[in-house]
Amino acid sequence: MKDRNIDSQSGLSRRQLLGMATLTGAGLAAASMGAPKAKAATEGHAAMPSSDGLPPLEDFTYDLEGSTGWVGQGGTAKEQTVKQLPVSQSIAGVSMRLQPGGLRELHWHAIAAEWAYVVTGNVRTTVISPNGEAGQDDFGPGDVWFFPKGYGHALQGLGPDETHFILGFDDGHFSEFGTFSVTDWLGHTPPDILSKNLGLPESVFATFPQSEVYIVQGQVPVAQHEPLREIKPQANQFPHKYSLDATPPIMEFPGGEPRIVSQKEFPIATMTGAIMLINPGSVRELHWHPNADEWQFVLSGRARLTIFGAHARTKTAEFGQGEVGFIKQGFGHYIEQVGSEPLRLLLIFNSAVYAEINLSTWLAANPASIVEDNFGLTKAVVDKLPRKLIGFTAPA
Ligand code: MN
Ligand code: MN
Repeated sequence: MKDRNIDSQSGLSRRQLLGMATLTGAGLAAASMGAPKAKAATEGHAAMPSSDGLPPLEDFTYDLEGSTGWVGQGGTAKEQTVKQLPVSQSIAGVSMRLQPGGLRELHWHAIAAEWAYVVTGNVRTTVISPNGEAGQDDFGPGDVWFFPKGYGHALQGLGPDETHFILGFDDGHFSEFGTFSVTDWLGHTPPDILSKNLGLPESVFATFPQSEVYIVQGQVPVAQHEPLREIKPQANQFPHKYSLDATPPIMEFPGGEPRIVSQKEFPIATMTGAIMLINPGSVRELHWHPNADEWQFVLSGRARLTIFGAHARTKTAEFGQGEVGFIKQGFGHYIEQVGSEPLRLLLIFNSAVYAEINLSTWLAANPASIVEDNFGLTKAVVDKLPRKLIGFTAPA
């Protein structure tokens, strides 16, 4: 069996190579060993220290829509947390459907903010902020809402058909089935306390739900917003609504269209979201996000995602409609569209600021000589490399 500790090309021991790599870096080590220019830059290359013992890259896809979740008369909910997808430490996802009049009851989330994208149908949100601002908004397909951590809110299906939306939470340990729901709390509070708090006879509370209702079938809301019981809606200083699909793509590419909403466009949001279309035959180019993890949900079509986790570790997985993908902060990745249908992805990032670095612009941002030396290329070849953002490859 081949001795791992001896480099196969240089014949140097691992200890010698380690020393060279430390002193000079692998590139210089190769040069000092006389690797001629315009030959493979790996020739005479010092082997990196062994990465034995590093864990292989984790699985990064999960079939969210294929799971069962919670099913009730007024609606359904399916979730993905670290329990279903351990790599997704920073973001949890939920796919929820409400029937017309279905009410996701008054609740809040103790550990996570809520970012949502409406796939189909119409839904109304009612929210209160800690400073007493309250408001109602109606959402249709392509609209986004955001509730900061701890804000009290409720959701109603408006009809005429079922509404479907995807929720993202900025903590992978967040569970939709462990939210702070009003019926759960009041159902576990003594009636004499409730009587004092709310000014009703204790007997009334015997009729309250004794456990969490979660989603209940209620009245279909009237089209016009019903007035709030008392608090007047204040001027929307920090609106919770953003119409993502109605905005133009941030750039035009033949191979795809990215629409992005970060805090810059949507001041209340501390998370960033995007809708990305990739045309048949196109690839979202090699890139990474320096400041955020990326959670993906396939709205339609099929994706093949390849991630790079350093130490020679890459991993590829293919996934389709209703499935989730996840990429850790700083991990390199690219996405191939698969099949004849365009790929539509919903992306959620756990950062208020959106940032990416692409291979094409990175190489364009270097002097030709560095690129020549790095890859062992001639200037003539380097001159053919892209000089501006590729973003998406053109369809074949
Ligand atoms: Mn919620
Ligand atoms: Mn990405």
